[in-house]
Amino acid sequence: MKSWRDNVRRVVPYVPGEQPNDPDMIKLNTNENPYPPSPKVEEAIRNLDCDAFRLYPDPTAHKLVSAIADYHDLKESQVFVGVGSDDVLAMAFMTFFNGDRPILFPDITYSFYDVWADLLRIPYVKVPLNQELEISCADYKQENGGVIFPNPNAPTGTALTLEEIRFILEHNRETTVIVDEAYVDFGADTALPLLKEYDNLLVVRTFSKSRSMAGMRIGYACGSEEMIRCLNDVKYSFNSYTMDMTVLEAGAASIADEDYFQETICKVQETRQWTQEQLRRLGFTLKDSSANFVFASHGECPARELFEALRQNHIYVRYFDKPRIDNYLRITIGTQKEMEKLVDFLETYLKKRKER
Ligand code: PMP
Repeated sequence: MKSWRDNVRRVVPYVPGEQPNDPDMIKLNTNENPYPPSPKVEEAIRNLDCDAFRLYPDPTAHKLVSAIADYHDLKESQVFVGVGSDDVLAMAFMTFFNGDRPILFPDITYSFYDVWADLLRIPYVKVPLNQELEISCADYKQENGGVIFPNPNAPTGTALTLEEIRFILEHNRETTVIVDEAYVDFGADTALPLLKEYDNLLVVRTFSKSRSMAGMRIGYACGSEEMIRCLNDVKYSFNSYTMDMTVLEAGAASIADEDYFQETICKVQETRQWTQEQLRRLGFTLKDSSANFVFASHGECPARELFEALRQNHIYVRYFDKPRIDNYLRITIGTQKEMEKLVDFLETYLKKRKER
């Protein structure tokens, strides 16, 4: 018998990190920023005129687009905004990855990429990270229908240099190359200067991490005017009013407070340095991270066991039960105090475990 079920688009969805309802928790599992957004954001929201909510928001999101364009010294026509970088990336997959050849991305990377590719029926090949769990640029010299990778990569936290990104672009002049810079502000080279040389490069960014605004959902892409036009054509064929009025004001206010932005990043970087040193002292192996998280593996204690033990003590980190990385924890950098609590717990736990 025929059924409506025969016509359903079947997908295995992306699983976001938990947002537990636990008042005592230390939340280090979804790479949020532990510090609040700029006070200017709060002020902008307080000054909103609710009467204006009767009207549709500006579909071009001009206030936010122009703030971002000025900030990066780009034309407004080179900036596209969306509801978090997830929305921007999904639009970019839909817009640019329509060839017959497979798109390329690392085997260990942001786990939404294969979900979008499956959803949109885009063929793909996962390019293995090398032994060091790093991207090998030479592997991206093969034929493809597009390339996407995060820089720094997630969940590993290591970054490519500008020259390495240039190498990938140099060998992929005929397809779209997307650099997902969700974590770039925490210490990696941005690919933005390469926009002048490559009209097939799209750089995608977010307000969720370095701007402490994950809850507001703001992402953007920078690219050639032609690429941004193509993205907008798809967006306007799907949902024209993606950015609400609150977000347009809040996002522009964040951009206007550069001092606060830099200060917050410095705090996260200092705590990251301290955390890395402490974790190494406790027997963890980890690469220096360029992001707001570390990716660490312990020589003696399995990651899954540590994940469970931490969780029982209201410390939430991320564990991926996946080949090659199932003995690692991804730990977001919280406040210095939160990281001290994490390190204290781990120190006691590992000591007791040794005595058992
Ligand atoms: N890219 C990467 C690599 C990420 O880790 C994330 C966060 N989960 C995103 C994009 C999406 O972030 P958002 O939608 O909050 O901008």
